[in-house]
Amino acid sequence: MKKHLKKVCPAALTVAGAFVCATPHAQADNMESRYLTWPAYSGNDLELTVDNQGTHFTLWSPMAQKAQVLIYNQDRNSAPTDTLVMTPSDSGTWRVSVPRQLYGRFYTFRIMNNGKWLDETPGVWAKAVGTNGQRAAIIPLSDTDPEGWETDHGPALDNITDAVIYEMHHRDFSIHPSSGIVNKGKFLALTENGTHNSSGDKTGIDHLKELGITHVHILPSFDYNSVDEANLPSNAYNWGYDPVNYNVPEGSYSTNPSDPAVRINEMKRMIKSLHDQGIGVIMDVVYNHTAENDGSNFSLTAPGYYYRHRPDGSYSDASACGNETASEREQMRQFIVNSVKYWAQEYHIDGFRFDLMAIHDTETMNQVAAALKEINPSIFVYGEGWTAADSPLPVESRALKENVAKMPRIAVFSDDIRDAIKGHYSKADDRGFVTGKPGNEETIKIGIVASTAHPQVDYTKGNNSKFAYAAAPTQIINYVSCHDDLTLTDKLRKSMPETSEKELQRIARLAQTIVFTSQGTPFMFAGEEIFRDKKGVHNSYCSPDSVNAIDWSLKNSNAGQFEFYRNLIALRKAHPAFRMTATEDIARNIVFDKTDRPNLISYSIKNHANGDDWCEIKLIFNGSDTAIPVKIRKGDWIIVAQDGNLNPDGLGHTKGGNMTVAPYSALILARDK
Ligand code: CA
Repeated sequence: MKKHLKKVCPAALTVAGAFVCATPHAQADNMESRYLTWPAYSGNDLELTVDNQGTHFTLWSPMAQKAQVLIYNQDRNSAPTDTLVMTPSDSGTWRVSVPRQLYGRFYTFRIMNNGKWLDETPGVWAKAVGTNGQRAAIIPLSDTDPEGWETDHGPALDNITDAVIYEMHHRDFSIHPSSGIVNKGKFLALTENGTHNSSGDKTGIDHLKELGITHVHILPSFDYNSVDEANLPSNAYNWGYDPVNYNVPEGSYSTNPSDPAVRINEMKRMIKSLHDQGIGVIMDVVYNHTAENDGSNFSLTAPGYYYRHRPDGSYSDASACGNETASEREQMRQFIVNSVKYWAQEYHIDGFRFDLMAIHDTETMNQVAAALKEINPSIFVYGEGWTAADSPLPVESRALKENVAKMPRIAVFSDDIRDAIKGHYSKADDRGFVTGKPGNEETIKIGIVASTAHPQVDYTKGNNSKFAYAAAPTQIINYVSCHDDLTLTDKLRKSMPETSEKELQRIARLAQTIVFTSQGTPFMFAGEEIFRDKKGVHNSYCSPDSVNAIDWSLKNSNAGQFEFYRNLIALRKAHPAFRMTATEDIARNIVFDKTDRPNLISYSIKNHANGDDWCEIKLIFNGSDTAIPVKIRKGDWIIVAQDGNLNPDGLGHTKGGNMTVAPYSALILARDK
């Protein structure tokens, strides 16, 4: 009954801003208004607390006719040892207490709705579960803390634009035999130091450190549905965009899913290990829908409330996965806010990436950001500023990229720069700026200025967006590829079929040079630094390891590519000019040169921008197959990038004058006086 397997994963759709048409809301509002009368409960003791007086259960279920707690000795395949009858309490809750600490036991809730007992559920606030998350567990959470956890913290960050985000999946990163990692596909893979491929190149966490990224964004790590934790030898793969228990780590990434403490402890050990290397951890969160409809933990505790519906009462489906949640309702909004707070506090998470964020409303996202910043000012939040299908939520309320100015502390992915660089995300053979297709120049410029207002950028010529939607560069995540769609390698191979691998690698360098020198925050897909592919598969959400695994022998065969990426990241980190935080600074310091050729962009970052040592950085991108002559102002220039090579310390010097930008390459020059 893995119905999600028949469905397209929401993250696979990437239909940026495609569904902004308005629907008739009045009718739907009448249907949904009944939920507005349900009392919300704001206490922080929902579902389970244990103290010296005993074990206390509090379930929010305003319309239940009866409610029970079932107590078990085992995580599955056993009868309950006790059934506790709950009594109605304040604000739609039901409560029951036991005067003993029930550590080591499991529990579920069961409610009567419209005269029928619904299926058992671990509730929506389970913080520990057994196999497949079917029963919640009662354990002392402090026992799951690894040594040194009380002093553990992620990297301090002044601004999101100082981050370099590396998006990875646990299994992709470690499962290949060439990884040299023992705990393949597990949280613990990222606790292993000193791992390497057969050529001696660093892998695992040492590789991340060597590359220089600041944060790993890990694909869903909460408890999801699609991998059977009772049958892990089957080696099932899934991205994990099918949530079950939002506040518990996924069991298949642990070494023992049946022991509730193990997955929690091992995820914390992974986070501590990354923190010890100065690397932050970003959670990929999917509050926009659940794997099941009537069978979800939301539906089994408060039927109907947590979801939006169509006028006929059916589930509306902006996620294209069968349902969509209703963040505008108070208890759902509180759930999202409290859930991210829990991950930030209990697991020391440093950032959150919201899947299909535009299914949520802007008010909820603002509350999320405010709550997280209060816990730790270095935490940042970004998301997909689109939905996968239409929603009853009014367009003006959606956390769309077009509405990001209403969410000052939230960032959105720039599909503008993504598609302009490489071509359309789903049309495999379509080309972009770096692969010789004209007409993308203005959209690349939109990317360079992070979708902020700039006097020399004409948004009416933008391919995707037609206005400067970002209020500040801190609101933009720049990227050219991610887990969705073709990898950059596959995209280049399919759109440039006659081109040699060496040439394609050169084009990939140009693509990422544009991303990493643009204003905003750069984001890259794991393994592109060694030119990994996914065998040409677009939507690899449940493809086998043979498609998704990163082959670490590529680090040896593509050593030059890795070196380029390492230098590119070092360049960005060394120069604040690439990391401006204010729209006015970008408008003042970035000056585009007039060019009349397609696939050519030339601009300068001037005035020691953002306190940079360099007074001027000249960047010229040539996405055509011919060398282009350019005239550079006379001066003492350091050559930072030329002809497919890059070095932050300089490749050499030039006095300017007549120069050439080689095909498919960037020329970057800098001067300090
Ligand atoms: Ca699971």
